[in-house]
Amino acid sequence: MSLNEIKSRIQKAEETTGRPVGSTQLIAVSKVQPNERVHAVLQQGHRLFGENKVQEAEGKWPDFKKEFPDTKVHLIGPLQTNKVKNAVALFDAIHAVDRPKLAKKLATEIQSQGKAPDMFIQVNTGEEEQKAGVLPAEADTFIKECFALDLPIIGLMVIPPVNEEASLHFALLRKIAERNGLTGLSMGMSGDFERAVALGATHVRVGSAIFGERDYR
Ligand SMILES: *Cc1c(COP(=O)(O)O)cnc(C)c1O
Repeated sequence: MSLNEIKSRIQKAEETTGRPVGSTQLIAVSKVQPNERVHAVLQQGHRLFGENKVQEAEGKWPDFKKEFPDTKVHLIGPLQTNKVKNAVALFDAIHAVDRPKLAKKLATEIQSQGKAPDMFIQVNTGEEEQKAGVLPAEADTFIKECFALDLPIIGLMVIPPVNEEASLHFALLRKIAERNGLTGLSMGMSGDFERAVALGATHVRVGSAIFGERDYR
C-alpha cells in the first residue's frame, strides 16, 4: 500500500460514517523503518510521524526536522520516567500517559522546560497483564489526577488485544473519553484503522501499511 492509498481509505471511512472529511489525523509510524523509507514519505509531503522509543527517535528526527522543519513527531510507546526530560524536549505529543508517577514527572518537566506536548492517557481496555495503560475501572480517577496536575490531556489512546474484535475496544475507549469530556481518540493501526475512524478516531497510528513490514533483525 502507499501513503495516498491509506489517506483515501481514511477519507472514504469518514464519508461513509458521516464524519467531516479531514477530521482524522494520520500518524505515520516510522519506528524501525529504514531512513530512506521515512525520507520518501516526508518527500511526499507527509508531516506527522509516530515513534515508540525515545532513543530511536532522537537518533533520526533532529536531522529530518532540519530538512522538513514543520514535521511533528508523536511518542506512541511506553515512557520510562528517566526519559521524560528527553521526551518532553523532542515530541509534539505523548500518547501513553498511564500512571501517577509518570504524570507528576511530566508536570514537573513541562514547568522547567516551558514546553508542553499534547497528551493522551493510555487505557488498557483488554486488561492485559503485559500491556501498559490504566485499567478501565481506574481511568476516571486517573484522568482527574492528570487534570489536577494541569497536564494538557487531549484524549485517550488504546491498543486492543490482538485476538479480540478491535471495535469493542474502540467503542469502550470512546465511552470513557466522552464521560470525561475528552475529544481526542488515538486508536486504529494498519489492520483496523477504518473501523477506528468509523468509531470516531481523531488520530490513527499506521505503520506497516504505509512503509512495509518492519525488519527487526
Ligand atoms: C507499531 C505501533 C503502531 C503501528 O502498527 P502497524 O500495525 O505497523 O500499523 C501503532 N501503535 C503503536 C502503539 C505501535 O507501537
